[in-house]
Amino acid sequence: MTTKTQGLAAAAAPGEATLDRIAWIRLHAIHLPLATPISDAKVLTGRQRPMTEVAFLFAEIGTENGHEGIGFSYSKRAGGPGQFEHAKEIAPVLLGEDPSDIAKLWTKLCWAGASVGRSGLSTQAIAAFDIALWDLKAKRAGLPLAKLLGAHRDSVQCYNTSGGFLHTPIEEVLENSSKSLAAGISGIKIKVGQPDTAADLRRLTAVREHLGDDVPLMVDANQQWDRPTAQRMGRTMERFNLVWIEEPLDAYDVQGHAALARSLDTPVATGEMLASVGEHWELIKNEAADFIQPDAPRIGGITQFLKLATLADQAHLQLAPHFAMEIHLHLAAAYPHEPWVEHFDWLDPLFNEHLETRDGRMHVPSRPGLGFTLSDQATAWTRATAEFGKRA
Ligand SMILES: [Mg+2]
Repeated sequence: MTTKTQGLAAAAAPGEATLDRIAWIRLHAIHLPLATPISDAKVLTGRQRPMTEVAFLFAEIGTENGHEGIGFSYSKRAGGPGQFEHAKEIAPVLLGEDPSDIAKLWTKLCWAGASVGRSGLSTQAIAAFDIALWDLKAKRAGLPLAKLLGAHRDSVQCYNTSGGFLHTPIEEVLENSSKSLAAGISGIKIKVGQPDTAADLRRLTAVREHLGDDVPLMVDANQQWDRPTAQRMGRTMERFNLVWIEEPLDAYDVQGHAALARSLDTPVATGEMLASVGEHWELIKNEAADFIQPDAPRIGGITQFLKLATLADQAHLQLAPHFAMEIHLHLAAAYPHEPWVEHFDWLDPLFNEHLETRDGRMHVPSRPGLGFTLSDQATAWTRATAEFGKRA
């Protein structure tokens, strides 16, 4: 028995099928500045300040045989440093493990921090590793992640969000929507949920008139309505033929969403704020949404997203993942029913590669894995790094 085999046994007692081992992990805390301070309804109701940056936790994982993967999680406003610190604590449990056993490794990472729970910040730290492991596996197979998972389509219809925030004057929102359509994006979403509901309706009327009847249009209230306001606004907005009304109520108001979804013709969308499959399961089993909007980094990564996608499919839900199009394009491509992907250009400066939009759809890149590498600019925005193990 060699020392190497004894080392393997000590790590996790893998069987003879083990092909490779995780040799090193590198973590980066990267703070991406936003060109303009961003406001949605949470700012207009006084709950939050305008957002000026997004904190990213990047995980790079490498193996003895020279395979590598990269994944990320993120935090808007507070929480980024906490995700990074939790990731530093749990990273060492991956060393020596077979990178292909992703489900097992998710569980191992979860148990490493069991006392801080199975949702929220701790799970979001795990997501960065989980996504890196899926990227690694797809790269090893020489396939884009969507192809490794088994795609239903090579492109996904996409809509723009970043042009329709509430800090943006309406003339500019209209201009942004035209630019999005010209850039091959088929849908437009605007923010609503202001304390002045008449102001919401004025903006929505202007956008619908500008776009005409045929362009898919969504609104997002970012949880700022109470139940009566959501009911009244939902009924008033029926005439705009919206693809969906997003987050009309508090993210955890399952019964309120269910009642609204039953009473409106316009589909109800929600789920971006939820932080585990278990929380999404409450929405699904209570028929609280027509569109479910999971966010892979927020619910613990791709392993968890795939479980959720199966549950959502069983419930005949439509899918519109939240943010992080670089990850969600692959996952949406693998969902049985035609989904929507949210187009945000905010992350573009972080990566050397960019996604292609054409004819209203976002196209799965032919590059293996997720298909992204960190840019020099991202390196310049790095606030902290941590390394574990040794590069081969
Ligand atoms: Mg939203």
